[in-house]
Amino acid sequence: MRERMLPWLVADWGNPSSRHSFGVKARTAIDHSREQVAHALGAKAERVVFTSGGTEANNLAVLGSARARRQHGVHILVGPAEHPSVRDPALALIDEGFDVEVGQLGSDGAFDIDAFLASVREDTVLVSLMLASNEHGSIYPVARVAAGVRRIAPHAHIHTDAVQALGKLEVDIVELGVDSVSISAHKVHGPKGTGALVLASELPIRPLVFGGGQEGAVRSGTENVAGIAGFGEAVQLADEALVTTRAHLSSLKQRLADGLAEIDGMRVLTPGGSKETLGSIAAVLVGGPPAEVYLHHLEERGILVSVGSACQAHKNEASPALLALGLSAEEARQVLRFSFSRESQVSEVDAALEVLQALAGELSTL
Ligand code: PLP
Repeated sequence: MRERMLPWLVADWGNPSSRHSFGVKARTAIDHSREQVAHALGAKAERVVFTSGGTEANNLAVLGSARARRQHGVHILVGPAEHPSVRDPALALIDEGFDVEVGQLGSDGAFDIDAFLASVREDTVLVSLMLASNEHGSIYPVARVAAGVRRIAPHAHIHTDAVQALGKLEVDIVELGVDSVSISAHKVHGPKGTGALVLASELPIRPLVFGGGQEGAVRSGTENVAGIAGFGEAVQLADEALVTTRAHLSSLKQRLADGLAEIDGMRVLTPGGSKETLGSIAAVLVGGPPAEVYLHHLEERGILVSVGSACQAHKNEASPALLALGLSAEEARQVLRFSFSRESQVSEVDAALEVLQALAGELSTL
């Protein structure tokens, strides 16, 4: 990946919109990445819109598709545990006269597909349901939801945020039956600040950024050539490693869950008792003091974990996605988030378990 990115950072300064050979070289690099991303998602290359990351892709999907469909209705439905980059732009559309509904989970955190579909109306213009949760790894039945929405709401744009799922689950836009998919480079070891909204077909999307008409006039602005070059490569590598990555991550998460079962008061959250979750994310209810106390103790021993999600870090509030599982605000603050990648090792999980075992004794009296 480094080799793909480097020329655009140190020597090749051509603007991909320029007609001279330097520009053509940059355009060719972007188009190569476009093919790589499209191939991994079963999409057409010309339907890949590069953005500054998953956040922008989600904002573009939500705001751009709803505004383009206004003549068909004002109802919007978003999933119960969406990332703020889906939920917040949807809620912002209330000011523009849209009627926005946020789906609910069952009291045990289970996603009820019938209840979700019962909220879809004939005049629903947008449904957005994430493929996998960034906070606890739950996998949502996007394909079944998309099929159900199509039967009820003929004009709905169906979007899924697959930022966490990419590289860990199959993400095929045709099999999912959705209109758009958001992805982000840094979740597959690509460069931060690059992502894409991938469309299933030529659909009306109102741009958020107007200007020179790049990216099919959906997202103007000179492209981040180095970022996009690295993104394409990272997506291809993640796609090639998908089957082994998936098995590896599941076994790491299972090992963590089995180890925690031996520690009093700690457990991996399994919303709705879900059997199949993303192996890359484990939300661990630690009990006792707020999880942040554990985070610092773990860090002192070289183990880096998160509290809630990185995206929530700028907002001093309990995570709505954790509250949606039926946790109290106090419990939501007792949740540590372990993330594994294809490079994570069994020995690292064992080391974390050893530290947690020791901390459980030390900290439970605080
Ligand atoms: N959606 C989900 C599910 C995420 O986990 C994240 C980031 O972690 C995003 C969207 C935002 O992506 P980005 O950080 O590329 O803006």
